[in-house]
Amino acid sequence: MRDVIVIGAGPAGLGAALQAKQAGLDALVLEKERVGGRLNLARRVGNFPWPAGGWLSGAVIVQGLRCQARRSGVRIAHQECLQVARAGQHFIVRTAAAEYRCRAVVVATGVRPLPLAVPLAPAAAGSVHYRWNDIKVHRGMRTAVVGAGETAFDQACSLAEHGAAVTVLCRGGRPRAHAGLVSLARSLGVRLRLNRPVSRIETSGTRGVALVTPRGRTRADAVLVAIGGEPSLPALTASARRRLGRGLHIAGDAVAGRRRQAAIAFGDGVDKAMMAHAYLGGRGAC
Ligand SMILES: Cc1cc2nc3c(=O)[nH]c(=O)nc-3n(C[C@H](O)[C@H](O)[C@H](O)COP(=O)(O)OP(=O)(O)OC[C@H]3O[C@@H](n4cnc5c(N)ncnc54)[C@H](O)[C@@H]3O)c2cc1C
Repeated sequence: MRDVIVIGAGPAGLGAALQAKQAGLDALVLEKERVGGRLNLARRVGNFPWPAGGWLSGAVIVQGLRCQARRSGVRIAHQECLQVARAGQHFIVRTAAAEYRCRAVVVATGVRPLPLAVPLAPAAAGSVHYRWNDIKVHRGMRTAVVGAGETAFDQACSLAEHGAAVTVLCRGGRPRAHAGLVSLARSLGVRLRLNRPVSRIETSGTRGVALVTPRGRTRADAVLVAIGGEPSLPALTASARRRLGRGLHIAGDAVAGRRRQAAIAFGDGVDKAMMAHAYLGGRGAC
């Protein structure tokens, strides 16, 4: 029986785990993929508190957080949480390999990318990606980025820096990313195409694809879809859900609405761990 299980080791989960540790709670973190979560994808982060100041890539910030977690004795198990249930006075957190019992749970599982819901030729499916670093970029590789927000432009910049020839297809008449990021993308050679809602993706040539829009077809070797995300929660049984705010706490991007930022997620993780501590009989402030 543990005090707290934190599900997800992105910024929110790491914030929660560090706080739980500081409060003297016995905490375990479950992570199904990479420590650091979506922050690993960020090219330049300028709004996360960092002693050195300036810009850092998300991956470098993650290294620092991982190091801090290790030094603080935070334990991370690489397992996917499949379900959170309530049994009597405690929670049961199920993974494929184990069943953990705990008195409080912080769910910090972030968001999953929204799928591009258009007809897709089966042979083109392997060319469509949702994270820039899943694409094996080679110099001059034609890459179409579908999306208009900051994650679309940030990833377009990463791809361009790795040598790809990038075109961003925006559905509407203007990008939704901030102007500085759009002009940075342009300065890296990223081409911007406005009013290009993609209606289907076909195969083109031997290995390429064509994205069909009302203004014509854009040919590409790879497609990156970055059109937003939806909360990615594990299954929560009805009895577990009834404990929301009373032992079961959700932190970070999974509940942030449009305010999806690493510093907010980290702080929210700290906050939710303090709530869990207060629920367990602590004072809530350490
Ligand atoms: C391209 C890009 C650029 C960005 N740039 C910035 C920026 O400049 N500044 C900024 O502040 N923010 C930026 N962000 C946003 C920032 O990365 C997120 O706000 C932050 O990572 C959210 O943290 P989180 O812990 O809530 O979720 P996530 O980072 O998504 O972490 C959730 C973790 O939970 C794990 N998980 C999910 N389900 C389960 C499960 N069932 N069991 C176990 N583990 C699970 C996931 O694998 C993941 O590691 C950017 C994001 C992207 C994609």
